[in-house]
Amino acid sequence: MVDDDRELAGTDDGTASGDGGATARRRSEGSAAGGAGRIREHLEYDLAVAIAVIGGDDAEIIRDLESRFPHSNLTADQPGQASSTTTDALRCVWMSSEDTLITCIYCTKSRPPSREHVLARSLGGDATRPITCAVCNTQILSPLDQALARRSIVAMSRAAYTPPSAFEVELEGNHFHYDQTRDLHTGVTLTNGLTPRVFPQLHFRYGVDEMAVTGEGRESIEELVAFIDNLISSATLRSLYVKVGPAERCTTARLVLHRTDDGYLRVRTRGDERQIFNALESKWTVMRERILTDNAAAVQETIEAPTVHLGLSITLDDTFRAVTKTAFNVLATDVGVEFALLPEFNPVREYVLGADIQDPEDRAIDEIAVDERFVVQVGVGESPALQSATDEHLVTLFYHGGHVRACVTLYGLHSFFVDLGAINLTDFPIVAHRFTVTRAGNHVLSLDEMYERTLLQRSR
Ligand SMILES: [Zn+2]
Repeated sequence: MVDDDRELAGTDDGTASGDGGATARRRSEGSAAGGAGRIREHLEYDLAVAIAVIGGDDAEIIRDLESRFPHSNLTADQPGQASSTTTDALRCVWMSSEDTLITCIYCTKSRPPSREHVLARSLGGDATRPITCAVCNTQILSPLDQALARRSIVAMSRAAYTPPSAFEVELEGNHFHYDQTRDLHTGVTLTNGLTPRVFPQLHFRYGVDEMAVTGEGRESIEELVAFIDNLISSATLRSLYVKVGPAERCTTARLVLHRTDDGYLRVRTRGDERQIFNALESKWTVMRERILTDNAAAVQETIEAPTVHLGLSITLDDTFRAVTKTAFNVLATDVGVEFALLPEFNPVREYVLGADIQDPEDRAIDEIAVDERFVVQVGVGESPALQSATDEHLVTLFYHGGHVRACVTLYGLHSFFVDLGAINLTDFPIVAHRFTVTRAGNHVLSLDEMYERTLLQRSR
């Protein structure tokens, strides 16, 4: 995501946490030096096993991590303090001149840096790193973030678990409440906590001279009236955006105010809008009078636990690419930009950029085409060790079977295994990067902390 605030724009000036040479070593470059004994012993491991093996009080591991991440404030004596790594501390390291060119970790071109959110801001990420160019960031990566936050299964959790105090969320898509008694489909939006909110809207029953208004109280109805007043007086009614169908949810045509000053018309079939425009232009004065008068006397109804019919488009390839991008951003941030630029990661770069997406050709008619070479989704509960480490977002990087892999868990619920690339290594640090869902900081977790959380979760 792009942010206009340039204050933190900068480049990897060599003082950053990431130094590929120091943190991950290719086999051809000889074995790693220094006290990473136990990590190296378990170089090829299943991560869940590794966490159990490493244990909760291994000072050697912590010392090793401290030497790898000197700014990350991990201490063996006070594991609770490990979480005090602040975004500010990390940001200081990354600040440098704006004119410096960087090598973008996606297109690998030398360009001015752009602040890439390591985890999408729309999911609550607030850490930015100058690891991408503006072209990749705005044209490719930002739309991927949007797909993940708005048009994926993760979007539901985003709406459900983002507290209203953090930022406002509206679930994308077309959602309806059906009033059986009146045979009325009312357009609603789902906000933080999946709380339904009724858009102010004016319904027209097809073929009969019947009209109804729904909204959340008189004030919202008055907003709707003022909106239509403005459309009529400025002669812009016919430029109103028209949505068509779905037919079964269009027992009425309706004019919906979905923002304070923006609305649309929803009709059953293309062409129906002309009839509504004609009616409004010729009879609005009378309609307006009836709405304001009738509404004053209208019975207020509260619908307890309403059933909302969801209509949400999901773009699976974009979702998977966005997940892969997040894991790759963490690799560049926590392991190193130089490391992320190694040619072994070219295939994953191409995939994230959309230059190489291979959907399977031999799929059943009810199967969705999706490239699963780099990402597989893990079923809920299938990987308890990873999912229990946080109820927010967690990106874990590890080396297994000759591949750098990642596990990305979003909202403590949706987990994905990502294959970032095949590479020959003699040494690789375990990285666990936690992000809040509230744009309120993020930090690299200590192994201590991960292990303790896992034990805590298991004892429940
Ligand atoms: Zn680029």
